[in-house]
Amino acid sequence: MGINKTDIVIIGAGIIGTTLSYIISSLSNAKIILIEQENKVGVHSSSRNTGKVHAPFIYDPEKKKVIAKAALFGYEFWNEYCRLKKIPFKDDGIIEVATNNEGIKTIYRHLEWGIRNGLDKKDIEILDKKDIENIEPNVKCQTALLCNRDASVDYGEITRALANDANKNKVNIIMNSKVTKIKYAQRSNEEIHLKYKRYPDTNEKEIQCDYLINAAGGSSLGLVNMMGINHDYKNLHFRGDYWIAPHKYNSLTNHSIYSIPKFQQFPFLDPHWIIRSNGNREIGPNACPVFSQYGYNTKINLKEFVPRIYGFVKGFNIKRTKNVLFKKEILKMVSNEMLSSISKWHMINRVKKFLPSLKSKDFTAKGTSGIRSNLIDKKGDFILNPIFLNSNNTMHILNYNSPGATGAISIGFALTFKLIEKGIIKKDKEISNNPFNEKLIMDCVKEVKI
Ligand SMILES: Cc1cc2nc3c(=O)[nH]c(=O)nc-3n(C[C@H](O)[C@H](O)[C@H](O)COP(=O)(O)OP(=O)(O)OC[C@H]3O[C@@H](n4cnc5c(N)ncnc54)[C@H](O)[C@@H]3O)c2cc1C
Repeated sequence: MGINKTDIVIIGAGIIGTTLSYIISSLSNAKIILIEQENKVGVHSSSRNTGKVHAPFIYDPEKKKVIAKAALFGYEFWNEYCRLKKIPFKDDGIIEVATNNEGIKTIYRHLEWGIRNGLDKKDIEILDKKDIENIEPNVKCQTALLCNRDASVDYGEITRALANDANKNKVNIIMNSKVTKIKYAQRSNEEIHLKYKRYPDTNEKEIQCDYLINAAGGSSLGLVNMMGINHDYKNLHFRGDYWIAPHKYNSLTNHSIYSIPKFQQFPFLDPHWIIRSNGNREIGPNACPVFSQYGYNTKINLKEFVPRIYGFVKGFNIKRTKNVLFKKEILKMVSNEMLSSISKWHMINRVKKFLPSLKSKDFTAKGTSGIRSNLIDKKGDFILNPIFLNSNNTMHILNYNSPGATGAISIGFALTFKLIEKGIIKKDKEISNNPFNEKLIMDCVKEVKI
């Protein structure tokens, strides 16, 4: 069989890879292959998350500008797309609660950040104790922030709809196919050679392309390493677990309730009270360290333990390893999160601080688990933003964490227009060829600066 030749290969049919394949194919006639190791699209982080279309009030407008702006536009993009595809977009708003004085300061800071990130004053307001009693009588807190421009969706369902639309635009989606080797093109006019194994026969197959987009989620850094590209990052994986509340709690609140994170210097939030787009109530997620980007259960984690520890220490000097593993705050955060993973009681108690009528014994059904793969730098500090690493003929999307699903369309347009500007993609089609409002797209491209 001859080698498959194409213009662009995108590795990973999670929400960002699938969105990019759809957006590029709605603006260009380039031949695109989207390649995915699983037998369905969006089965990893893109289905295993909280399902929030996050309003950008928890993101520092200086330090997290790109994701904050991407999330701001995400609300309108997903609202429009879900309406068109008849996918639930539960426009239910969110309340962030402060249960102590430190938390109150954070609430006021979040109000300011929300407005600086572009939220309208009518969409975000401070609630005092009396307001909260009226709006959510079962919630106990001192002060809260109500944001109406926040919604709940099923990002797995959205990813499947996008794949369907990409397919209609002639994107070739190859499933059950894991990329195992990538030969780096030394010069810009050279082709990139990829080898992949297609299950179940596992024979190695080959594709050649002019441009490669690595959107492999928790495996993206592994693919960068596979290509021998120099960088300064290591990956840590954290599993977030959820517990499903019994029906008797369905009328406990009208809003999802978030608390101020205990460890604000880390890119994780504390477990929330979540209202899902299907109406289910859940508690989660925590952030328990695990040994694999797919470490959903103990068996996988045990299998990955030795290679992960070896891979983590390899290439690190002792001082650097110590920096990461033994930082006092990291140890504190990790032990707190591990306790939440081992003990349902501990996790539910974190939410009981603001919903005191919850009883841990009522929670008998485990929900999904999702894994965040977070990059750390040389000093052992967490990288707070996504990284778009460009090399010859390639773009690698790394550290694409929350609110990555919220911002996927915004980031998709920003990256596509950048590739058009650089002459990598030819714009053959009018913007009106896709379902989103043209002004919204152009405003987004102007503001989401990558
Ligand atoms: C617990 C949790 C809660 C979250 N909550 C929210 C939220 O409420 N709102 C929000 O906006 N964001 C949230 N996020 C973040 C959001 O889910 C992610 O940012 C987003 O899903 C990342 O998408 P992705 O496409 O990069 O990754 P993925 O969905 O992981 O997709 C990557 C794909 O690449 C494939 N792949 C990997 N290696 C290969 C290979 N070698 N060959 C072929 N295919 C390969 C994988 O199989 C996978 O399908 C949450 C994340 C987690 C973990």
